[in-house]
Amino acid sequence: MTKRHARSWVVPLALLGVVGCTNAGVEESIEAAPKDEQVTAWVPGKPLPTQAHAEGTEHTLEMDWVRHGGSVEDLTDHSALIVNGRVESTRFDVVRAYAQSKTEGQLSGEESGISSDLPVTIATVRIDDLARSSLELKTASGGVIAQGATVDVMFPGGLLSDGCTLAPADNPLPKVGEQAVLFLTPQGGTKPLAARSMTGVYAVTGGPLGRVLVQDGLVQGASSSPHATAIQEHVGQPVDALLDRVEARARAVQYMGPDTREEPLFKAGPDEVTAQSWCGLQNFGYKWCRNPTNVTFTDLTGTRWPVGDSMNAWMYTSVSNSLYLHWRSSGASDVTVYEAYYGYNGWYGYALNSWSGTCMTGSTIKLNNTYYTGAHYAKTVTLHEIGHSLGFAHHGNCNSIMYTDPTQCTAALTSCDAQAAGERYPY
Ligand SMILES: [Zn+2]
Ligand SMILES: [Zn+2]
Repeated sequence: MTKRHARSWVVPLALLGVVGCTNAGVEESIEAAPKDEQVTAWVPGKPLPTQAHAEGTEHTLEMDWVRHGGSVEDLTDHSALIVNGRVESTRFDVVRAYAQSKTEGQLSGEESGISSDLPVTIATVRIDDLARSSLELKTASGGVIAQGATVDVMFPGGLLSDGCTLAPADNPLPKVGEQAVLFLTPQGGTKPLAARSMTGVYAVTGGPLGRVLVQDGLVQGASSSPHATAIQEHVGQPVDALLDRVEARARAVQYMGPDTREEPLFKAGPDEVTAQSWCGLQNFGYKWCRNPTNVTFTDLTGTRWPVGDSMNAWMYTSVSNSLYLHWRSSGASDVTVYEAYYGYNGWYGYALNSWSGTCMTGSTIKLNNTYYTGAHYAKTVTLHEIGHSLGFAHHGNCNSIMYTDPTQCTAALTSCDAQAAGERYPY
């Protein structure tokens, strides 16, 4: 194990997410950590939480964005509203997902009494320049979009009930004063608890990609460098040039609606297998520290999400591993899976992992129904998110289901995934 372990790549933990509570000096541990308390979001209307963060525990939010390589034109086509604006204020809210059931007759939705809250941050943005809009679009107060008006923009990530703030690893929370060109889509989907309505609430197209930071009139880049390709040639240049380009495109091509992909866009199989024995699938640096690796799951999704099949796929591969993923029908489990209509917010799904030292203590998976296009989408996204819940990071191509956009891959684990699971969780 030690030889193989040395070859596995580890993503620096600091890159994995913005966590408002940090713990330094965690030590290697081979024992299973005590189970973390269920990580829940703070709910609007309640007093702001005081620090109740469990000592030694960390949380990371791994978001899976819909778009990973769009051009400025592509972003423009899929954005109804494009502004250069400044964040005036921010507030925390949550989007609540209720348990669904695969079994007829079982309580689902609000009646189930079981829910999980996605922390979100809503930024009120004052519009300085308007590069694309339409008459149907409204401000948060129902007014007409215009220069000087404000819109609300929702970002995933926010406040947890233990006092931690949490943001996706590659998309920091918006800050007051932040100036950015924002490619926006009406958010739609489930209303955050404290929002009056979804009128005037927008999401950033492509998550980090459609959020182009601006300083002193110059384009700074996307909010996260891995996503900067689309605007690369504008970095360091006046923002007006970018806005001109957007306006020209918007005049020529009508708004195409949010980015929804036909199913399937293409089903890419694994690339040519090389002689390398290690396929380079990175991990987060933490894992489930049990042997055999018993991990319990509670599946609170309906029939569209093949959670059980995906658990089996990770357990029974061509390479033996020690994973034993199994259901727990009631009570707390290690991994809980939810679905909801999270809206056109730019992501397929995410995994929120908690860990202590180098050992995982819990994981929550959320799956977005809004972009659902059928069985291929459901299977690829479910396999991918369970991969995150097992501690695997992203891969650069479809040699692994952990490719950044799994919907473009074949809906199955590859020999690379089998190898990675076998090496990370040796039999
Ligand atoms: Zn915490
Ligand atoms: Zn992912």
